[in-house]
Amino acid sequence: MAQDINMYNLICIFKRRIFVAVILVIIAACFIFSFGFTGKAIADTAELDEYDGKIEHIFTHELIFDTAKAYSPNNSVRDCFDKDHLTAKEFKALLGELYKNDYVLVSLDSAINGDVKVPRGKKPLVMSFDDMTYDTFNRGCIDKIILSDGNICDYTKNAEPQVSRERENVTILESFIEQHPDFSCDGARATLCVNGYNGILGYRCTPDCKVSEEKQAAETEECKKLVAALKGLGYTFASHTYYHKYFNSCTANMIEKDCAMWQKYIEPIVGETLVLCYPAGEHKAKNAKNDIFKKYGFDIFLCVGNFAGTDYERAATDAKYLYRLPFDGTALRLYQKSYAHLADTRAIYDETRFRPFSYKGGYYK
Ligand SMILES: [Zn+2]
Repeated sequence: MAQDINMYNLICIFKRRIFVAVILVIIAACFIFSFGFTGKAIADTAELDEYDGKIEHIFTHELIFDTAKAYSPNNSVRDCFDKDHLTAKEFKALLGELYKNDYVLVSLDSAINGDVKVPRGKKPLVMSFDDMTYDTFNRGCIDKIILSDGNICDYTKNAEPQVSRERENVTILESFIEQHPDFSCDGARATLCVNGYNGILGYRCTPDCKVSEEKQAAETEECKKLVAALKGLGYTFASHTYYHKYFNSCTANMIEKDCAMWQKYIEPIVGETLVLCYPAGEHKAKNAKNDIFKKYGFDIFLCVGNFAGTDYERAATDAKYLYRLPFDGTALRLYQKSYAHLADTRAIYDETRFRPFSYKGGYYK
């Protein structure tokens, strides 16, 4: 009998051990499934890799949505529109090319901080949009960016529909990200480099706009709401200087006044920013005039060109100089080879421009 009880106990203990072992195996399997063998959660690491290679940074100006108006012989600025701008159709096609070539949008801040993580196999891209002043009325660009039912939209009184989401860089980008959420890494959007001499984003919010004080105040308040919505989506802001005067032709006094005007009228709308985007990229980093920008708190400088910076710029410890590639009519025609890793410029070229893709003249003036 005692032997039977002992046997019974042994069998029970054996069963219990098997039961415990099975539970342990299940727990271990769950652990490995959730966190991987390294103990790190798969959800956090498997999708994003640290990136320490070259980060591409491209920029555009406001887009041309109506090429018939923009490139009409009656438009005195059609050469500039041809050289310095993309059409809405080209910008859409550009996003498609970038996406196809495995680029994902990262924020300028993450690029500056050296804290760029992208999904495995993807390449980071910073994007900025310059000017967006909308002061070339009824020549094929929109009038302003607006909020409509909480959505970022483009508006013009000169076309139907007056409100859309397919005529300007920010609205086309938003529509694209809705269709391809993985194009934006960690919610990144573009940096908007705005001026002040004619207000920003189509809002006449500075004295130089020459509107009544009441209108200036009302436009300022409306613009603040738009800026808050853009920032909520992930857009950031940079100073493209208040007057948009080229560096070499500015005196120190002019730069001082420019910074003071920015600080007084635009900073209250877009908030403080460390980023200054040189008009036309023109600058001299080692120059007393540049120190004025630094005195006003700017220490990230956006330049233009396929260039890593001068020795002085690369060695600077009190400021960073970042070079960007323009996407415009000039670039589409002239940089087909050097831009091939980003986009096929021939394929995205809008044939409704008044000049053919083969036109190469007049761009080096
Ligand atoms: Zn500009």
